[in-house]
Amino acid sequence: LHVCTANPATTSFSPQGKFESAELVAPSARIKLARIEAYGKHLFYVFARGRTVHVHLGLFGRFKKHKNPAPSPRETTRMRLEGDKVTFDLSGPTACALVTPKEKAAILARIGPDPLRAGADPEAFYAHVAKSKMPIGAALLDQSVISGVGNVYRAEVLHLLTLHPSMACNAMNRAEAEAMWHLLVGLLKRGVKEKRIVTTQGLDVAPKSKRLLRKESTHVYGQSACRSCGGDVQRFVQRARTAWVCPNCQPFRARREP
Ligand SMILES: [Zn+2]
Repeated sequence: LHVCTANPATTSFSPQGKFESAELVAPSARIKLARIEAYGKHLFYVFARGRTVHVHLGLFGRFKKHKNPAPSPRETTRMRLEGDKVTFDLSGPTACALVTPKEKAAILARIGPDPLRAGADPEAFYAHVAKSKMPIGAALLDQSVISGVGNVYRAEVLHLLTLHPSMACNAMNRAEAEAMWHLLVGLLKRGVKEKRIVTTQGLDVAPKSKRLLRKESTHVYGQSACRSCGGDVQRFVQRARTAWVCPNCQPFRARREP
């Protein structure tokens, strides 16, 4: 562990070596980064000797990459990861703290399953939605229900399943909940593979402009007209984020269908 000199109140961790590299030297003041585990938006940086740092980026957390030699950490730098060629400085996270195994377990116990994790258990998600009256659009952004979905996937998955975001969770039947989980697994995996969010088909060749890409990569998110039916897309705030919905394709339903 290396205490950051720019701001004694914060601690910076300086493993020697690149992010991906497992071959790291550990000079006295530095410890090696062994791996990073992601559970939705909760990240665990596991360093040598089992030291684990819990990071949640929140809305403002950013990693800034510097070529070495990197400038001194700023006052806002919360964690520094130093490699042979590059250095990453973390600033603005909602959480960045050393945690004990017990604290890590407590964090994991209060977050819902992450569709991107191999071995994630969707039963916890099914059980939650079966009894919850919370609107499904709000539940999809609730990390205690399901992890790592985010606002674009919320809009798109509900559109693809023709479900209105304001519909209560328990108005979905089991088949719809299962379809939602499996669709999210596929879409999130595709996002990781392509390094961008794309929920539409037929976009194997990247469009020439970024603007075009954004326009063609979603059905309702960020759209004024629904790309399935051409109808007007409506927007409203749900769980502090803008929900995008085509009422034509996604009619509101109060009850569970058999
Ligand atoms: Zn539509």
